Amino acid sequence: MIKFLDLKEVNAQYADELKQVASEVIDSGWYLLGEKVKQFEKHLAEFVGVKHSIGVANGLDALRLILKAYIEIGVMQEGDEIIVPANTYIATILAITDNRLKPVLVEPDINTYNLDISLIEQHISERTKAIMVVHLYGQVCWSQQLEAIAKKYNLKVIEDNAQAIGAYWNGKRTGSLGDAAGFSFYPGKNLGALGDSGAVTCNNDELAEVIRAIANYGCKVKYHNEYQGLNSRLDEIQAAFLDVKIKYIDAENQHRREIAQYFCENIKHPEIILPNAQNISLFTPQCSLSHVWHLFVIRIKERNILQQYLTENGIQTLIHYPIPPHKQFCYNEWNQLSYPITELIHNEELSLPISPVMTEEEIISLVTVVNAFNNNKI
Ligand SMILES: *Cc1c(COP(=O)(O)O)cnc(C)c1O
Repeated sequence: MIKFLDLKEVNAQYADELKQVASEVIDSGWYLLGEKVKQFEKHLAEFVGVKHSIGVANGLDALRLILKAYIEIGVMQEGDEIIVPANTYIATILAITDNRLKPVLVEPDINTYNLDISLIEQHISERTKAIMVVHLYGQVCWSQQLEAIAKKYNLKVIEDNAQAIGAYWNGKRTGSLGDAAGFSFYPGKNLGALGDSGAVTCNNDELAEVIRAIANYGCKVKYHNEYQGLNSRLDEIQAAFLDVKIKYIDAENQHRREIAQYFCENIKHPEIILPNAQNISLFTPQCSLSHVWHLFVIRIKERNILQQYLTENGIQTLIHYPIPPHKQFCYNEWNQLSYPITELIHNEELSLPISPVMTEEEIISLVTVVNAFNNNKI
């Protein structure tokens, strides 16, 4: 069977190093906010090209903490509006509503599946304080037009970089493009820990200091609670694992690009819409809309039939995501709203396996099976 993502194989590549650093942490007697976290934060900041990186408990917390800190600093207050793509993963929206801020859902572009930047301006109100861009599926969502809008209306731009670590826009990495960024190191992400963890990156000293404090019970000095904080810390053992794996992330992303290129060149099916990724064969750090292929997303009207066919033929696929945020039970106040592009994507989306540990045989066989899909025969 071709697994969607074989995490055991992913980590087996680095097993010796992972076991070595795990032993170091066990023997150190220090398990939270120690040297391993410091080292990883330093390496992540260097990798992304920013001044500050703060390790936190998970990706959702990274986003929650950015907004919470902006509220503490006085940049935002309860009820302010945050522009966000309507088709994002629920975590982006949860981070906003958890802070009693108001998500303003904006449709994505049907070709890139990223926030349609040309629709932002018409959604800006007196209360808009930020745009939260999501580099969805690993593809960069950024443009000069976006920068111009943010400047014109004095908005913060926050990047949800959970799916796109390592991607570039015009020579800069995602996570360094906006005012602050949230990362997730959930095991299945391109840079995955062996458990939950996340990080915030930014260049602003005050923001970094406040986020660090809020993530640790609101204390800058132990037992002095300046903010009503959270407990959202990065474990030493996860930081140690991540510090091993970050050395290989560019190579892994490049491998994903090669697989994606093979898929794009060889999947030929009249009903399947391939990802619209420009210049994947000409990848350079300077290219715009760079993609790190967290997911290889295709669209097809008969999505469920294709998925069933692939399952029967030993290929595991997933749907990202089956239900859009505005149709979720927890946001029932939005259930009647209509976001046709978002809904179309959710109805037609299918994610094919793409991972750095797929064998050449699996890659070729996947293409053959997909191309042989005959809707009429079923
Ligand atoms: C995974 C993910 C998150 C949340 O990360 P966790 O570490 O699972 O909390 C946020 N946003 C997006 C787009 C994600 O894919």
